[in-house]
Amino acid sequence: MADLLRVTQLTKTYAAGGPPWARRHVAAVNDVSLSVGRGRTLGLVGESGSGKSTLGRCILGLATPDSGSVIFDGTEITGLRGPALRAFRRRLQPVFQDPWGSLDPRWPVGRSVREALDCYRIGTPADRMARTRDLFARVGLDPALASRLPTHLSGGQRQRVAIAAALASEPELIVADEPVSALDMSVQAQVLNLFMDLQRDLGVAFVFITHDLGVVEHVSDDIAVMTRGVLVEQGTTDQVMHAPRHDYTRTLLAAIPRLPEPQS
Ligand code: ADP
Ligand code: MG
Repeated sequence: MADLLRVTQLTKTYAAGGPPWARRHVAAVNDVSLSVGRGRTLGLVGESGSGKSTLGRCILGLATPDSGSVIFDGTEITGLRGPALRAFRRRLQPVFQDPWGSLDPRWPVGRSVREALDCYRIGTPADRMARTRDLFARVGLDPALASRLPTHLSGGQRQRVAIAAALASEPELIVADEPVSALDMSVQAQVLNLFMDLQRDLGVAFVFITHDLGVVEHVSDDIAVMTRGVLVEQGTTDQVMHAPRHDYTRTLLAAIPRLPEPQS
């Protein structure tokens, strides 16, 4: 079966700082190729600055690569504009570390979700209210919270609203960039459980980006490891976690905090 997402030899450079005559171009993403099957989750891991967000933004069409291609469901989507781009936006949604990106501080949170339904003309105007309530329930929120302002929710609840807004357009792929990194440990676990429920129930594919290999272990079918813009290892979660091939992956594995083994 053809992959849902196929990234081939993608490169994105940025001008590094310094005076104009000495300015260098740094490859934030350097010749990266990967693919994600329908309903599968790829964990994309690497330390801060390794190029994960840049790659995610190129996949989402929020950044334009210098070269290489992003093929979504058989169509090249880099360079798409206007209505063609809009049609793909609906099918490919982001969730960011900071939920404020998808929430307007002045609006009750239900309106932010409703707005996503309006934007993509999902359902009839009459049944969008019911759909909004369903989306709240889907992400484990009491629909009564829809009338609250985002400041009146906890960080975990706000991230759940952002996930509901991302789900509104019934996407086939969600690119989640450090979606639990800003949350307290106990809340992280709850939101990770929500991601696992969504994978199971909705068949959505995910690119799950995190600097924490311990987080992707639980949510990923496959893992890709990046450092300095380069993908150094790709494999099934089991292979990468238990039989890593690259030294950098071993370094990341060694850094995962583990609870001490219980004494018997
Ligand atoms: P990660 O998400 O893994 O932390 P990023 O993709 O954010 O990494 O960044 C990768 C590299 O690209 C970093 O060196 C960063 O400074 C650089 N970079 C990212 N975005 C920009 C930008 N808009 N302008 C200039 N440099 C950027
Ligand atoms: Mg990042």
